[in-house]
Amino acid sequence: MDVSAAMDFAVAPAPAGDGKTFYIETFGCQMNVHDSEKVAGVLIARGYRPVDSHQDADIILYNTCSIREKAAQKVFSRLGAFRKPRWAERRIIGVLGCVAQQEGERFFERAPQVSLVCGSASYAQLPALLAQLESGNRRVKGLNLDTQDCFEIEFTRRDNRFRAYLTVIEGCNQRCAFCVVPMTRGPERSRSGAKIIAECRRLVDAGYTEIQILGQIVNAWQDPSPAHWSFAELLSRVAEVPGVRRVRFTTSHPRFFTSDIVQAIDSHPTLCNQIHLPVQAGASDVLSRMLRGYSREEYLEKIHCIRRAQRAISLSTDIIVGFCGESEKDFEQTLSLLAEVEYDQIFSFKFSPRPNTAAVEFVDSVSEEAKGRRLAVLQEAQRQIQLRRNQALVGQTFEVLVEGYQPRLRQAVGRTTDNKILNFAGNPADIGCYRQVTVTAAGPNSLVGERIAD
Ligand code: SAM
Repeated sequence: MDVSAAMDFAVAPAPAGDGKTFYIETFGCQMNVHDSEKVAGVLIARGYRPVDSHQDADIILYNTCSIREKAAQKVFSRLGAFRKPRWAERRIIGVLGCVAQQEGERFFERAPQVSLVCGSASYAQLPALLAQLESGNRRVKGLNLDTQDCFEIEFTRRDNRFRAYLTVIEGCNQRCAFCVVPMTRGPERSRSGAKIIAECRRLVDAGYTEIQILGQIVNAWQDPSPAHWSFAELLSRVAEVPGVRRVRFTTSHPRFFTSDIVQAIDSHPTLCNQIHLPVQAGASDVLSRMLRGYSREEYLEKIHCIRRAQRAISLSTDIIVGFCGESEKDFEQTLSLLAEVEYDQIFSFKFSPRPNTAAVEFVDSVSEEAKGRRLAVLQEAQRQIQLRRNQALVGQTFEVLVEGYQPRLRQAVGRTTDNKILNFAGNPADIGCYRQVTVTAAGPNSLVGERIAD
C-alpha cells in the first residue's frame, strides 16, 4: 500500500517505532473505521509501517464492535489464533474499541497474549500507551470513560480515496434501552466548528471532494466555541468550503432532527440528497420501551418535513426486530411504517441483549425463530419497495462519483448523491471522476446505466 498517498499531510515519522510494522483489523461502524484510520496515523507518526497481514506485523490491533453479541465474539475468535505463546511473545497484540471498553482488564485474563486494551474514549492517550509498550511494559490500558477529550491528531491515514470521514462529535448521551454505545464510547464530546472547517479544508487540499460527517448521534453536535453554530449551520459551512462537491452525514437521531437541517439541504446543492434516520420500530409502545424519545407519529412528522424538501431526498433507516415484548401486531406496525415511508435502504437486525443496557433487565420475550422470521419478512418487504423505487428511476440521468471498476464486466461503479450504486460501461480512468449517467435498468440494490457526454 502506498501510505504517503493516503495521508492528509506530510509528517516526518518519529523514530520510536523504528520501522516496526503494524496491522489493524476493524469491525463495526464507520466511526470505528475512521478511528482505525486515526490510530494508523498515530502509529505512522511514531515510525511504524502498515502491513496487510497480521503475520507480517510487530503490532496487531483489533478495533472491535460490541453492538450485537455476534460482533463482539469476532475478536475472541481472532485472538484464538494467537494461543501459541512463542509466536505471540514476539508481537504486541492490542484490543481497541467497544469490546475493549466493555471487557476492560478482564481481557488480560481471558486472553493473556493481549498487551494493550484501550477504549475509544482513551484514544488521546494512545501515544503515551505506545511509549509504555515500547519501553518494555507488557500490559497497558486506557479505559477511562470520564473524559472531555476528542481524539485530535496531527494526521490520519485515510483508506478511502474518494470519501473522507470527518468526526464532529464523539460518544453518546442517549440511553436507548438496547444500545451499548454510551457505555463503551463515553459521554458526548463535540469538536469546535473552527477545527472541523480547518480539517475540511485540509481534506480538500489533499484531493477529497466528498466529505462524510460522522458522529454516533451526529445531529446532537453542539459547537463548544463562542460561535455556537447549530448543526444545520455546521452542515452549511462545510458545504460552502471551496472544492467540496458532496457532503453526507450520519447518524442522525430523530429526536434531534430539526427542519433547519432540511432547509440547509435545500440551500446547498453540495449537501447530498440523502438522510439516514434510524426509526428502530414502528409501534409507539415499542419505541417507548426502547427509550427512543419519540412516538411513531412524531417520527413520521420528521419524515413529512423531509418529503417537503425542494429536492427528492433518499431515506434510509435502522430497524430492530424482536425487541423485548414486541408482539406480532407491533411488528405489523413496523411493516406498515415501511410501506408508508418507502425507504431507499434499510439496515435491519435481530434484537441482541447487551450487557449494562436497560433492556437486559427486560424479558427477551421473542424467540429466535420469531426474530428470524420477522427479519426475513421485513427484508423481503423492503426488497420489493427498493425494486419499485429503483425501477421508477429508469430514464433519469444522475451525476455519479466513480468509486471503482469491475474488469470482468468492464463496468465503472458509481454512486449518486442519493447514495445509490449506478454502474455503467466505463474504464479504470473513470475512477475518481464525476460522470453523467442515464439509468437503463434497475434491481433492488443497484442501477445500471449509460454514460452521456458531460
Ligand atoms: N447511534 C445510532 C443511533 O442511535 O441511531 C446508531 C448506533 S448502532 C452503531 C447502529 C444500529 O445498530 C442501531 O441503529 C440499531 O438499529 C442497531 N443496534 C444497536 N443495538 C442493538 C442491539 N442490542 N441489538 C440489535 N441491534 C442493535
